[in-house]
Amino acid sequence: MSELRRILQDSIAHDGPMALDTFMAVCLGHSRHGYYMTRDPFGVKGDFVTAPEISQMFGELVGLWAAETWMTLGAPEKIRLIELGPGRGTLMSDALRAARISNEFSSALDVHLVETSPVLREMQEQTLAQANVPVSWHKNLDDVPEGPSIIIANEFFDCLPVRHYVKASGQWHQRLVGLDAQGDLSFGLAPDAEALLTMDAPDGAVLEISPASQLMMTQLATRIAKGQAAALIIDYGYAETGYGETLQALRAHKSVSPLECPGEADLTAHVDFASLTRAALAAGADVFGPVSQGELLMRLGIAQRADALKKRASEEQAQAIDLALARLVTERVGSSPGMGTLFKAIAVMPRGASVPAGFRREA
Ligand code: SAH
Repeated sequence: MSELRRILQDSIAHDGPMALDTFMAVCLGHSRHGYYMTRDPFGVKGDFVTAPEISQMFGELVGLWAAETWMTLGAPEKIRLIELGPGRGTLMSDALRAARISNEFSSALDVHLVETSPVLREMQEQTLAQANVPVSWHKNLDDVPEGPSIIIANEFFDCLPVRHYVKASGQWHQRLVGLDAQGDLSFGLAPDAEALLTMDAPDGAVLEISPASQLMMTQLATRIAKGQAAALIIDYGYAETGYGETLQALRAHKSVSPLECPGEADLTAHVDFASLTRAALAAGADVFGPVSQGELLMRLGIAQRADALKKRASEEQAQAIDLALARLVTERVGSSPGMGTLFKAIAVMPRGASVPAGFRREA
């Protein structure tokens, strides 16, 4: 039995069943055995591949977006470029290279990475060793000083914990992780109904919410509402809040049960962009989008960037560039799903700011 499974089972035996979001937070973030704490999960050998790992074009366009947004914010003399959950540091490295297009922007920059994983932080240090801007690391957004900033989060919100409520006998009950008769981890429902949840829905309906995501967005948007700050959030998810559960566990590119191998599979849930938008608006910021990732990247000029790269490429490299482009912007690539439609982006801006690059007033 894995060490983390034993820790979880002992804790439940001692304290009773735990909420799903607590379980997810422990599986991903336990200081010794948490999924992100112990490994580099990316790439062909890992559990999943993210957009910046598919092609340098992704990070480059995010860098250009940041440069344009800096202008929109009035080109402050100093600005923090903050990334939440920077993975291997690939996006930031590509973004900084592209940002050199503007000397003024490059020299205004100070990079702040918010990362909880010591393994990934070390990789980020290596990737960014040659970056000619100051880089610092933080475990929490709260530790990053306030002031002019551009915040980037790609595939960050999907790993923030979710909670489930299930309709049973006409009432909503929270889903808990408990132990079955053999002492193994199993899902169950809290015996007491949630008095405050009164929405009508058929029995069996599941409401998935992410209090941690809402809190994170409230913190971001509160900073942004003070002015001279903006955020670009890209992730897979849905534009309208609805019923249904999307929690999934991935191990070696295969789907497994979330309870099967705690700490050894990536646990994620689709991002509810409508709920993030509500949290940002309530904190006093403006929100643009969601737009699909495909739409955003095309508007930012990914096709032209691919053409420019292909001019300097071999035949084989040119084919790889075309394939990467298709994976990033289209809904399907052959028989595999692409990222173009499932992934979406929102921009969070100070109230009254002009429309950021890649977005429109109406989505
Ligand atoms: N943005 C990267 C990586 C996405 S994976 C990419 O696109 O390739 C999620 C990242 O968020 C990892 O770096 C992980 O260690 C980090 N992370 C997960 N939970 C976090 C938290 N609560 N606070 C800060 N970083 C977190």
